Order: sequence, then structure tokens, then C-alpha cells
Amino acid sequence: MGFQVLTAEISHETNSFSLQETDERAFMSRYVLMGAAAIAERGQANTELAGFLDVGRDHAWQVNHVLSAAAGPSGKVRGTTFDWLCGPIISTIKQNKFDGILLGLHGAMDLDCCEDGEGELLRRIRSVVGSDMPIAITLDSHANVSRQMCKLADIIVSFKTYPHVDMRHTGRQAAEILHRTMAGEIKPRTIRVSRPMLEDVNGGRTDIGPMIDRIAAARAYEQQADVFAVSINAGFASADVAEVGPTVTVTGQGDFAAHTAFAETIADDIWNRRHEVLNDYLSVDEAAAIAAAYEPVEGPLVIADYADNPGAGGYGDSTNLLGALLDAGVSNACFGPMVDGEVAKKLHSTVVGERVHIVLGGKTDASFGGGPLALEVELVSVSDGRFTGDGPMIHGLGGSFGPTAVVRAGGIEILVVTIARQILDLQQFKAFGIDPQSNRVVALKSMQHFRAAFEPIAGQVIVCDSGALCTPRYDRLPYRNVPRPIFPLDQFENG
Ligand SMILES: [Zn+2]
Repeated sequence: MGFQVLTAEISHETNSFSLQETDERAFMSRYVLMGAAAIAERGQANTELAGFLDVGRDHAWQVNHVLSAAAGPSGKVRGTTFDWLCGPIISTIKQNKFDGILLGLHGAMDLDCCEDGEGELLRRIRSVVGSDMPIAITLDSHANVSRQMCKLADIIVSFKTYPHVDMRHTGRQAAEILHRTMAGEIKPRTIRVSRPMLEDVNGGRTDIGPMIDRIAAARAYEQQADVFAVSINAGFASADVAEVGPTVTVTGQGDFAAHTAFAETIADDIWNRRHEVLNDYLSVDEAAAIAAAYEPVEGPLVIADYADNPGAGGYGDSTNLLGALLDAGVSNACFGPMVDGEVAKKLHSTVVGERVHIVLGGKTDASFGGGPLALEVELVSVSDGRFTGDGPMIHGLGGSFGPTAVVRAGGIEILVVTIARQILDLQQFKAFGIDPQSNRVVALKSMQHFRAAFEPIAGQVIVCDSGALCTPRYDRLPYRNVPRPIFPLDQFENG
């Protein structure tokens, strides 16, 4: 009979500075899928779970999938919510005999009771299964990987792409290593090295820049007989935690002095090239001036608001960029999302085609990204906010913005939503009647993920800093728990 394997997915990227605490409702509004329901939704898509199941089928495992749960990035996760998520995993482990455990995690979960959520989950699991049970985890490459996680998980494999397009592949790699471990063929453990930085200076982007060569070097090192996975984690700078920042992990066996030395060479490169910032962070006025003058030849101008990225815990209601585009008279443009559940609700009781006064956005914390905009708008459409992705990141996966409306203000169609989500798929506009390709200017909230679907249709891409919560100007954030000195908050001797 095949191995008995417990699988689960729990993902949260916690922005410690967010005023919005993360409770059960926050998870329910993204997804909390138990067992078979999770497999039905995620088992054939580009997900870690699909990769786990691929390998499970190949080796005739008996898979017991407990749950898949995620909340959009937001503030600290309540301890009681964490207990609610971990409970079914722990009770399933207590009630059954397993040969191995395989978890799809993010790796930047900060709880109101302890700042290493994933480490705490692993600690609870180990307290039941002991130290011998093989445990493999996958991580987002924006994980802050703690020493505890490395000590308690034998196998760690992170995404190797940003935009993240290798979730299923990562799941497969971790599952294959777990299989060899359960079979007694190998006995891996994981080491980590780090640098005193909030994050890799380019957030680990892999479309251009130095991470391409680093990943290639990691891939080459993985070819050695005693090396099973090398992961380069950019870290997550919006987590105000002791073990923040870039790490390199090696899951292997044998000569750990050599593995550590290899990891140090990659970490050195991240440190030595910490001033090589690839993005040019424009002000919103600079971005609006480019938009006003833009002549589309090969496609629209895509403006990414880096700082208000809901995918990193930005509130999604920053108004600085929208205000600048309206002031500059930019026309034939679309903008999304603007998170404002109050306005979305009001628009749902308005007749399509009517003109209404709204006070839009900027309501969570005006000191990050601007206050509310008083606008007269025309209501174009309303919907329940549901979409199904068709791009490289979320093909076939459903999602929801909650009650949603499209309004026209000046020459701009604005997607007003209730639930904050990063824009990373064309369907997040198309499902609501906005075709990005037929616009002259597309303004969206995302740091990097948008590139997977939007670069192919863009004539030009620019990035701006609206001053919202995920601003790359880290000196604006009230860090208290990160170790000092740390780059870029502090000066280092060699520059
Ligand atoms: Zn990520």
C-alpha cells in the first residue's frame, strides 16, 4: 500500500503595519476549503496542492487533504483564527497514522500572539508527531524564513519565479523529495543563511535583473546528488519581525559546510548588489504627465501603483494616483481596483447610467496614499465581483472582489470593489466589462505580479509610488521589531 500523507495549505502574508486585523472572516472572504472541496477547486490548477496530488498519484499515496485556506494580505492574524485554521490539521494527525506531512504555506504569517506563524504551526505538529516524521513545506519566495521553520521542517522548497507562475511545479518538487524521504532513500534537513536587509532590493523579481543568474546557480547546485532543493527567498519587508529579510535555504544531506558556503555566495550577491534597484519609482504627478502625453502604438500605457498593492497588504484605497490622473485630464483610461465597500454598496442601489456624487477611497488611513476624493461619476455597471482568471498565475481559478461597480469619472473608468485584491489577471477588468487592451492607459495596483498578464498587451509599463502603505520608502514605516542595523533603514560602513 502507498504512503499515507497528510496535506494542507494555509497562506497568509501579514503586513504588520496594516490597521486591518486578520480574522476568520478575512479567510472566509478569500477561501477556506475543506478536503474534497479544496481538491475540486484547486486540484487541477496552478497550485501547490495540484503539485502534491500529481506526485501522490505517481506514487499511489493515500492523500488526506485537510484544508486549503488563504486570506488576502492584511494585518496580524488573531491567535483564535490561527487556532481555528490549525485545529483540523492537528486533530487529523491525532486520529490517523501518517508516513509524511506536506504543507503549502506562505512563510510570512505574523500572529498577534507570536510573530512566526508557520514556525508555530510546525511546532504544534511536531509536538504530536515527534521529530522523526518527515515534514515538507512549500513557501512563497516572499517568505521570511525563520530558524524555527528550518529546524522543524526537513524539506523546504520556495517558488523560483516572481511573478509567481511555478506553484504547481514547486508543489511537485517538495512532494518528490518527501517521497524519497519516506522511502528511506534520503534523509534531508534544511539550512538557512540570511543578510541584515528588509528584503532583496528588487523583491526577488525574476523577469529581469540579478535574480535570473541566482536562480540558475541554485538550479545548478540542485543537480548534486546530496542536494534536493535550493531556495532564494526575497523576504517580506512589511513584516515587522525579528527574522525578516532575504534568506537562502538548502535542503540536502551530506556536506553541510559546502551547502552553507554555496548559500552564502548567493546571499553575498544579494547584499553586494543592494543598491541596484531596477524599478524607477515615479511620483504620481510624473506618472500622470506621462499618461496625459502617451500615444499608444503597440498597446496601452500600464501604470502600476507599487505602494497600494493589496497583494502586500496595501489597503487598495489610496487615491493619490487616481487624483493625479483626473487632474491631468487623462482620458480613455481604466483604473482598478479602488477598494471602498461603502461606495460599492451605494452604487448597487443606483440605476445604471445615472450620475451620482460619491466620496471615494482614502478612508482607511489618509496619511498613506491620500484621503477621499469627492467625485461626480456615471454608473456604468454593477456586479457581484466574481471573476475567473485566464492568465499565467490564476488560470481557471475563481476569485471575488465582493460587491463591485464600474463608474466613469472624466475619461477614466474606475473599478470600485469591496474586497481588496491585487490586479494580476486581465479578467479582473474584463469580467466587469473593461477591456484593458482597448484603453490608452491602464492604471492598476500591483508591484510585480501584473507583469505576467499585462506586459504582453502593454506598449509601455511604468511604476509609481503613491505613498500608500507598501511604499518602497521604508523610512516612513514605524519599524519596532526588526533587528538593527538593517538595510536600507541604517547606514553600513561600506556604503
Ligand atoms: Zn510572493
